Amino acid sequence: MPSVFDTNPDPAWRLDVTGNDPARESDLEARFAVGNGLLGVRAARSVGRSPMWLSRTHNMAATSWPRTYIAGLFDTPDIEPPVPVLMPAADWLRVNIHLNDAPVQLRAANLVRQRRSLDFRRGALIEDILLTTDAGLVVRISTLRIASQSQRPIGLQLVRLQIESPDVAVRLEANFDQALMGLDLEQLTPNLGVWATWQSGKRLAMAGAAGLTVAGAEIAPSHQDHLQFVWRCTAGLDKDIFLWRLAAVARSDRRQDDPGPVALAALAVAQERGWQEILAAHETAWTDRWEAADIHIEGDPEAQQALRFAIYHLISAANPLDDHVSIGARGLTGDSYLGHVFWDTEIYALPFFVAAWPDAARSLLMYRYRTIAGARAKAAGLGYRGAMYPWESADSGLETTPDFINGADGKPIAVLTGKQEQHITACVAYAVWHYWRQSGDDGFLHAAGAEILLETARFWASRITLEADGHGHIRGVIGPDEYHETVDDNAFTNQLARWNILRGIEIAGLLRQAWLLHWEPLAMRLGIDDAELAAWRSAADSLVTGSDPTTGLIEQFAGFHALEDIDLAPYAQRQVPLDVVLGRTRVQQSKISKQADVVALLGLLPEDYSPAVQTTNFAYYEPRCGHGSSLSRVMHALVAARLGNPELALRYFHESAEIDLSDGAGGSAGGVHIATLGGLWQVVVLGFAGIATGDGVLIIKPHLPASWQSLKFLLHWQRRCVRVLVSQGGVVVTLVDGEAMQVEVGGGKQELRLGVPVLSKI
Ligand code: BGC
Repeated sequence: MPSVFDTNPDPAWRLDVTGNDPARESDLEARFAVGNGLLGVRAARSVGRSPMWLSRTHNMAATSWPRTYIAGLFDTPDIEPPVPVLMPAADWLRVNIHLNDAPVQLRAANLVRQRRSLDFRRGALIEDILLTTDAGLVVRISTLRIASQSQRPIGLQLVRLQIESPDVAVRLEANFDQALMGLDLEQLTPNLGVWATWQSGKRLAMAGAAGLTVAGAEIAPSHQDHLQFVWRCTAGLDKDIFLWRLAAVARSDRRQDDPGPVALAALAVAQERGWQEILAAHETAWTDRWEAADIHIEGDPEAQQALRFAIYHLISAANPLDDHVSIGARGLTGDSYLGHVFWDTEIYALPFFVAAWPDAARSLLMYRYRTIAGARAKAAGLGYRGAMYPWESADSGLETTPDFINGADGKPIAVLTGKQEQHITACVAYAVWHYWRQSGDDGFLHAAGAEILLETARFWASRITLEADGHGHIRGVIGPDEYHETVDDNAFTNQLARWNILRGIEIAGLLRQAWLLHWEPLAMRLGIDDAELAAWRSAADSLVTGSDPTTGLIEQFAGFHALEDIDLAPYAQRQVPLDVVLGRTRVQQSKISKQADVVALLGLLPEDYSPAVQTTNFAYYEPRCGHGSSLSRVMHALVAARLGNPELALRYFHESAEIDLSDGAGGSAGGVHIATLGGLWQVVVLGFAGIATGDGVLIIKPHLPASWQSLKFLLHWQRRCVRVLVSQGGVVVTLVDGEAMQVEVGGGKQELRLGVPVLSKI
């Protein structure tokens, strides 16, 4: 009989891990996390002792990091340096079991089998454990957990206990662990906990309910208090134990709003519906998500699984219903980067949402609109105009990059990115523009997008200094390549700033021409007039580009060409980043870049550079890149694919996929890499399938790797839905929803009509 604990029979739809290895545990907890954009739960074991510890030279280190996150629950606790961090909620999944008075523990000596399986399609983590207790009892434990995709405040846990001996006395305790929370407890009743942050004025409520059956018969808890439930019963052969537990969470952003009743109401609805219905609705919601987002690859099972893994985590990170939050660099799967939002979201993850889940994309951009006051304050504080978005953003839009971090030796290391990595402002504008163009969401443009474009353009115009050489300069920045600090005229920053200003001017013109009723009040409120727009244009026109008109080579920043050229080939097998191998100072004085910088410029503005110029620059910068960031290889892959080198792109694709999927790296312990995962999607859709946006036209210019037979996916495009099938022989495009449109495929424009496939040979 099929059971809820069955794993997906198709390996392309799941990820498994077997065995019990404390050293890998923290990585796995991120990799196998479940989430829904509000609630994120790492895959720490729920049954048996947790967290896990590893003893290293007479020290013990936690190798497990059980965490439940609630998006937007930021506080500035007693942390050095003091910056807002995403605070963990209570661990609501712990289950302790005693059999004949002896605790069941998941020790290596007792474990016969342990397998965790992440079912991408169902959005569920399933665990199967077989163990023999010290007393010789053979026990099978099956668990399932979800963060509901249909009712985001709800988490569900199921546990089944099968004992292969008769008449065993069982004590099962389902509890909430507050040990790692760092919030102030305000209220604790039998089924509700309410906590407050120390400084940010936020509150968190978690409500819980649970039930237990033995051989299908319900058993009342022998004790229930403070979100803890204890049952005592006799179970064994043919008398399986089954536990369900529901948790409901609510966050309030103002001290005076009590989230308790909200969590209790959500819990009551979930209880009324019952866990079966909650699970079924969750699975239906995931089916809908996958229908819009899945990409089918024929010919590369490894890439197929990696891409589904990426899409699974991207979907798990977003919540279209809360535009006060965005996606942190590690989603809701780990503590790294403190839950902060970087350009990772707008540049790397957003294209996925625009194409596959426009509502989520809109909400992510509305977060930038809701935090524009912080961006204005940052600009004003530094003597600029308009909106200057923070390099690291939490909930206010104020800069939250720490001024320093503590190094391994305990000594502080200055962090300059918060002051100097200013390209983020143009990246937000870039995302706004592309979302609007691709979604056709004029309502968003009127309500928020135009204001972001104008205020960011205004910032750049005030940031550029016109100097005695007759040119505009942007001095003292950090580009994407963070190995080089305080540089002048970083080409990526300058070109994106210029692009941002030009889009600001364009949008002003468009609003004035087509939507005067929106333009006039907006222009009045922002105080924009023709003289200012003219000043923006001359600022943009004056800006140095870094391009050599003869060779087409773009200088990454002023003075870059004079730096030491280091051949990186001898370091190909290194295990640590180049700045560690060669030392920070030498790397700073060399041409080694931490990540795609000029290459990222080509990736974002391909239409601004001819294929020949792109080829020249890719050939120059690729061998000089140290790939010291997880964002680097996917960007190289995207550009390589577009330049007609899909095999190199595929190599970079697989190397990037390994960042969160290969064992031993330890790099995912702090959470999965959202930018890399979004980047993998871009390599496939924008690179291999060659999707691009022309002037109101969808362009398809594929470069499929030789080993891939075909690639199939859906795309949202200007309120339509288009199916794209790319194979070695050609492209088939079909409009599956919406009005007729133009598509450019095989070099020529064609009309695409509902249900009539357009075929083109390549
Ligand atoms: C990268 C940044 C990135 C950040 C968060 C840094 O190491 O250099 O580009 O935004 O990590 O992922």
